[in-house]
Amino acid sequence: MNREEKESVLFIGVGRMGNPMARRLHQAGVRLAVADISEAALAPFKELGVPVSRFPDELEGTIVITMLPTDAEVREAMLGNRGAVRGFKREVLIDMSSSAPSATRSLARELAEMGIAMLDSPVSGGVPRAKTGELSAMVGGDSETFARCKGLLAHMCSSIRHVGPIGAGDTMKALNNYLSAVAMWASCEALLIGARAGLDPETMVEVWKTGTARSHAVEVKIPKAVLPRSFDYGFTVGLMAKDLTIAARLARSMDVPAPMLTATEEHMLFARDALGAEADLTAVITLLERWAGFELPAAGGEPQTKK
Ligand code: NAD
Repeated sequence: MNREEKESVLFIGVGRMGNPMARRLHQAGVRLAVADISEAALAPFKELGVPVSRFPDELEGTIVITMLPTDAEVREAMLGNRGAVRGFKREVLIDMSSSAPSATRSLARELAEMGIAMLDSPVSGGVPRAKTGELSAMVGGDSETFARCKGLLAHMCSSIRHVGPIGAGDTMKALNNYLSAVAMWASCEALLIGARAGLDPETMVEVWKTGTARSHAVEVKIPKAVLPRSFDYGFTVGLMAKDLTIAARLARSMDVPAPMLTATEEHMLFARDALGAEADLTAVITLLERWAGFELPAAGGEPQTKK
């Protein structure tokens, strides 16, 4: 039996991303328990026969994996009244949420005092790649803990990069999402300008995909969830606003000028307040449409001016 087969995992946070990630661990034969504050999120794992609870302290698992909205929930899930450290023996925390690097570093210090090692291993790729196990992980932490956990991560991620000490993964992720957010927002603006000027939306996307405008926004998010107006890509405006705030605070804390980042953060915070934190990121175009006074037409159609 290799080391990885001996590891037992407590996975906390089985929402849009955590659900397919934990499923992959289960399918790979990893000994798994699952915690989430939502009974609905736990139900599918209960059906699979996986031990579940709303309270992490009730579940075994030497390696804890968290996939929670923010670092505040990660802290609560580990150190709160019913947190994981109150129950069974824990050896490692792998936080796969997109957390703030400063919060991660201070949690890692507190856990180290309890003899628990920590990696920050946020991921990129979204729900589709979480389902196929093709996430890209950017890992911060010491080399020994990284070596111990790499095999587990490989069940969920096809690209795994050790990018530096604890917090480095979170820094990389915040900047990744900054770049992703700019591409998304700018592509939506360009689609509306182009449509107003008489261009066909599907043709615009096809052309940009093969040119230097290429991005995840034009290759995946827009064709999948904007053009069909399903707005169901699976990543919320609230979480993207959080990521941009992490990146903007990081820039400010080091006095690195980042005017585009500041503007993008402000736009996303505005979108979060206007559309609601749970709105899908791809729905930001509906805000731009409201301002423009027309909706993106169906492929080949004419732009519709609102009466
Ligand atoms: P989500 O809201 O769908 O899932 C979060 C889950 O955590 C929910 O099931 C919720 O009930 C649970 N939860 C909340 N607070 C809890 C607590 N205190 N204890 C236990 N469970 C708790 O969010 P998501 O989209 O899966 O994102 C999770 C993390 O992954 C975020 O940090 C996000 O920024 C990051 N992320 C998301 C995507 C994406 O495409 N959705 C991609 C990459 C990274």
